[in-house]
Amino acid sequence: MPRRLPSKGFIKYDKIFRIGQRSSSMQKHGRVALVTGAGSGIGASIAIALAREELAVACADLDLEAAEQTAKTILSAGGAAAAFQVDISDDQAVAGLPAVVAGTLGAVDVLVNNAGIGGESPTSSVSIDDVRSVLRINLEGSVAVTLAFLSHLKESASGRILNIASIQGFRGARDSLAYGASKGALVNLTRGLACDLADDGILVNALAPGFVDTPMARLPDGATEYETDWFQSIYVENARIPLRRPADPDEIAQAALFFCSPQNTYVTGQVLAVDGGMTATF
Ligand code: NAP
Repeated sequence: MPRRLPSKGFIKYDKIFRIGQRSSSMQKHGRVALVTGAGSGIGASIAIALAREELAVACADLDLEAAEQTAKTILSAGGAAAAFQVDISDDQAVAGLPAVVAGTLGAVDVLVNNAGIGGESPTSSVSIDDVRSVLRINLEGSVAVTLAFLSHLKESASGRILNIASIQGFRGARDSLAYGASKGALVNLTRGLACDLADDGILVNALAPGFVDTPMARLPDGATEYETDWFQSIYVENARIPLRRPADPDEIAQAALFFCSPQNTYVTGQVLAVDGGMTATF
């Protein structure tokens, strides 16, 4: 799967954030979130939703322009944000990120491991390198970011980690060997981390979206897979998704808010399917 990657160790942060732009309510609460993959789809929606809850949001993405766009949306609504370019599969860049974020917005209280890649990997033709490249981003990248920000989260009065997995983390799908394996690992990583970090007051949960209308679901011709006859027939007409439609990314963000909030004081190690009821059927 060809990927556009920045050079190793490259971190660039946008200077659009100024301390003076912190709202007074933010100064009162002072919580900071880091969202990976915040330039697009689910990550952008979660970043904007967290900013509405008065968190300052570090928008991290491989695509700096996209991350800046999300940060600008937050800033123009009166929130606080900054954009950072990072490849979560680049250990050196990830290791340097906490200091840059802390120097810009402050130490991180909420980490949303959202960045990920999809892609088909039929078992008949997949190579081990294809599998490794998906695991490197979807699994190892999330682990690397988590480990890098642990010291921030341990210092927080309300440390929260939210991993964006997938219903493919607990259901099989054809031609999805690498992606399904990466998301299944993320699901159980969530449970293990919840056990390990409980004594530090860090609650760790995951969301498992079903079909979501984002750029990841675009076909090569620009249409979404949700417009295809097979999707309409199986998932809509035959109600394989009981709600008969894909999710809007904002609907995933709504589910994210509770897990990231200080109001969540007793839910940890859990994985919530946000799938229109898909995994409730058989
Ligand atoms: P998306 O629109 O493609 O957004 C993903 C973002 O992550 C993009 O901005 C992408 O940047 C960025 N990214 C990719 N690799 C990265 C890396 N190595 N380092 C930093 N950023 C990177 O996808 P989405 O649909 O919002 O997906 C977000 C998460 O939800 C993913 O983990 C995905 O697996 C999960 N999910 C999605 C669906 C769905 O139906 N859409 C369903 C279940 C789970 P570039 O654009 O530059 O690559």
